[in-house]
Amino acid sequence: MAVKERDTSRERRDLALTACCAAAIAETDLEEDPLRRAGRLMDCLGLLRSAHPASVAATLDMRALRRGLREGISALLPADSDGREAFAAMVLIDEQGLLRGEVEDLGREHLVPRQALEGYWPWAQIRAEQEEQRLFEEIRRLQPEDYERVRVLLATHPCGDLDGLLDAWGGLWGRFALFEPVASWPWCNVAGWCFPCPRCRWPMRAQQDPGGVVVLSCDAHSADGVGYACRPGRGAGMPHLEGIGRNSPPVSGFPAAGGHLAVSRPVWRFFTLPGQMEVGFRDELARTKDLLIVLYPGGDAYDLHVTALHPLVAKEWRIDAKAWQSLPALGDALLKRPPLPGDGPLIIMVPHRQRAETQVLREQLAHCPDLRVATDRELLREVRRWCALGSAEGVTS
Ligand SMILES: [Zn+2]
Repeated sequence: MAVKERDTSRERRDLALTACCAAAIAETDLEEDPLRRAGRLMDCLGLLRSAHPASVAATLDMRALRRGLREGISALLPADSDGREAFAAMVLIDEQGLLRGEVEDLGREHLVPRQALEGYWPWAQIRAEQEEQRLFEEIRRLQPEDYERVRVLLATHPCGDLDGLLDAWGGLWGRFALFEPVASWPWCNVAGWCFPCPRCRWPMRAQQDPGGVVVLSCDAHSADGVGYACRPGRGAGMPHLEGIGRNSPPVSGFPAAGGHLAVSRPVWRFFTLPGQMEVGFRDELARTKDLLIVLYPGGDAYDLHVTALHPLVAKEWRIDAKAWQSLPALGDALLKRPPLPGDGPLIIMVPHRQRAETQVLREQLAHCPDLRVATDRELLREVRRWCALGSAEGVTS
């Protein structure tokens, strides 16, 4: 009974989050007809109310919904019986009235499909974990060496012009539907140009604020200080971007026209971002003596196998990198995963920028002795310490 109650409360919370994400997208969709936009918001409010007991639902009106989207959605979510407060302060629409980049992933990761949203829903009708599995199935039929090449290419070449991609991918190009034409993505178009993030090299989101300035941000790296502003255009050619974040080096763009492609959003989230963590991890330790690092040793079972042959006895780490926006949603997906055969735990490696939320994930997985959680930086430090190579200075994530 206790388990059933917990599941019900989780589903209510997922439903409320789904409604909030859909409402935030409707509220910031300024190209939508105002009447239709109001209808979308009313549907979202109805869904949100259905996630609450009647007494609370009666207090939730449009004003409360709009305020919650801008000031923090904790007031809109049902009480958190699991003690997981990861969303307490989450804001879905920022002070400039722009949609926060993580909304789309959050919505997909917590998705509870409802008929009321059909037709408005800008994402696939399936949950993130199903989409992740579908993508894995698509490429797992490859020979092991090709599998590794594809996984590394998705990390190193997530975006580019067709000629460059053809050069990089060679005979593997065209075997999967992993790329989409950037020209079909209005959300990253700045006066006909598209700008990749300096960190992950995937197109940054471009949104016009009420003052007419286009603000560019990466949905994964804006929290790390990646952000740009583009003032209303003067003349033709590539618009000039001004770095507005603490980690915003000069970037150049490319025409958002035919011939330029990028991996789809789920591929970026489930392959490119974790792949960059894995490749970065391997490269950081490349010159470490007596350390053997194998990428994708058993296909998609896990991502990295690290063996330290030094100092006295061999020690091994089995690592799976994950870059989900929502660690509670990742925890739910991991709980459904069959145990990995073999010795030692599977280490779930998450980006160091999510370190504040890892405790929640650890608590969620407390009854899974075969799973351990660490950030990429913590793991690098651990491996280096084992190899007696000193501190983890210079490590990036
Ligand atoms: Zn990025």
